Amino acid sequence: MKDLQPILLPGIDRKRPLIIAGPCSAETEEQVMNTARQLAEQGIKIFRAGIWKPRTKPGGFEGVGVEGLAWLKRVKEETGMYTATEVATERHVFEALKHGIDILWIGARTTANPFAVQEIADALKGVDIPVLIKNPVNPDLELWIGAVERIYNAGLRRLGVIHRGFSSYDKHLYRNMPQWHIPIELRRRLPNLPIFCDPSHIGGKRELVAPLCQQAMDMGFDGLIVESHCDPDCAWSDKNQQVTPEALSYILNMLVIRETTQ
Ligand code: PEP
Ligand code: MN
Repeated sequence: MKDLQPILLPGIDRKRPLIIAGPCSAETEEQVMNTARQLAEQGIKIFRAGIWKPRTKPGGFEGVGVEGLAWLKRVKEETGMYTATEVATERHVFEALKHGIDILWIGARTTANPFAVQEIADALKGVDIPVLIKNPVNPDLELWIGAVERIYNAGLRRLGVIHRGFSSYDKHLYRNMPQWHIPIELRRRLPNLPIFCDPSHIGGKRELVAPLCQQAMDMGFDGLIVESHCDPDCAWSDKNQQVTPEALSYILNMLVIRETTQ
């Protein structure tokens, strides 16, 4: 993958880290707009929100669906932020593109399914949009790289990966074990692929977000994707791990960014 291109977005300087932040899920137009305005005030330039939420078990909140894409469009128009959302099917891709989403990501449950990734890759043929591929829920590096290859083979060149930790049966401090050696091995194999860290899904608790962000920076990660909500305790999904935009800004300002040699 020597011809990968940087995830260049006009107006965003390329100094490390590239930050993507926003709620786990788009819940209501008001929650999306409040969170987005507060994040924009803190200088965040790329807004994330899940529109379609793959839940482990049925019965939970599965996302607002297409209706939420109009809210993201409003975020873009009113705050000037770029928008990012998760896609898991061909229809999600078409709808996201139709509504002007700027960055797509593939979730951990989807990366684990080659048919789903191929369907997304086919739907993206001929499209030039940044795509970030989360690691699969299980610690399978080849499956992760295989998903990247499927998107690459569809002709996309603005790619990146997101380390969001790996599930394990036993209970641990982390919601998903970081197993840092796996993303580091991925970077050794694909050195020009930007690598992001998702401290929210690794930690599962808000107090772990700051140390995980720092660890990712110390390991030379290129960016962070962090869940941030205007009222985290009332979030409809992943409430324990979301931080307010103000807390996020504090966390980011405290980060020590050293030059890394990788
Ligand atoms: C998310 O980003 O909200 C999400 C569902 O993450 P993951 O696919 O990493 O579980
Ligand atoms: Mn989440």
